[in-house]
Amino acid sequence: MNLYYSDAHTHTNPIYGLGAERIAKKFKSVGGWFMALVSLPPYHYGFMESGIEAYRKMMDLLVSEAGKIRGSGLKVRVLAGFHPAEVDEYFRRGMKLGDIMELAESVIKLIVGYHRRGLIDGIGEVGRQHYSTAPARLVVSEIILLKAMEAARDNDMIMHLHLEQGGFVTVESIKYLAGFTSINKKKVFLHHVTINEALWAEKYGFNYTVPAKYRSLKRVFEAGLRRVLVESDHIDDPKRPGVSSYPWDIPVRIKQLIDEGIINEETVHRVMVDNIVEAYDVTPP
Ligand SMILES: [Zn+2]
Ligand SMILES: [Zn+2]
Repeated sequence: MNLYYSDAHTHTNPIYGLGAERIAKKFKSVGGWFMALVSLPPYHYGFMESGIEAYRKMMDLLVSEAGKIRGSGLKVRVLAGFHPAEVDEYFRRGMKLGDIMELAESVIKLIVGYHRRGLIDGIGEVGRQHYSTAPARLVVSEIILLKAMEAARDNDMIMHLHLEQGGFVTVESIKYLAGFTSINKKKVFLHHVTINEALWAEKYGFNYTVPAKYRSLKRVFEAGLRRVLVESDHIDDPKRPGVSSYPWDIPVRIKQLIDEGIINEETVHRVMVDNIVEAYDVTPP
């Protein structure tokens, strides 16, 4: 059986890192066929302005990176967002919380505009800090998450949520927010989940992406979860190697799990192809 591999949540940084062209080529050479490309905060690309201009630059760079992935023969879905860490970053720079919220709203409008032009498929990352922060900043992040959810609902977009790893309560809270906004749960992806969130995400019908770490993958497969998607969450930052996996680590981990008899090739095909086709609405390789 010819095995194909996908990366359900990843980043590229052509300014400081390898960039999409090199990453996509290398991933394709190990069987990669699909990537979901997610924006990094604009200052990760060196766009240091605090206003909407930095986001316009970020979006144009993202669209160009997505084009390079497509040009390498891979399928791609593209998401741009306002990461909860951006709330903290702008607060540290002296911005008022209300102004940060307003900026985030303009960014969401900008993303919707790119979506209408067929350039962006979804909103992400938005969500809540996974680390301790001031309570009011957490609230700002959650309001941004809700506004993003409304925009995604109105424009039929997918979204990637960055959340605390709180098991049941994390997923339960997203279930409520999704209910309030009446967004289709299949459009909502919980990213970077452990087995504790994956169990509930699967039960409630959300999509979820599991980091390509040996232990995390082993646990979700041993639990028999079926809607599993695998992410590298590669941040493409040579200054922070090892923070996440590389996309090409995905086949390595999967092969290890096959060798150990934890999964078989049918499961791999379902996770790496069938689940991606369904979750991202793309045609199979
Ligand atoms: Zn994240
Ligand atoms: Zn990420």
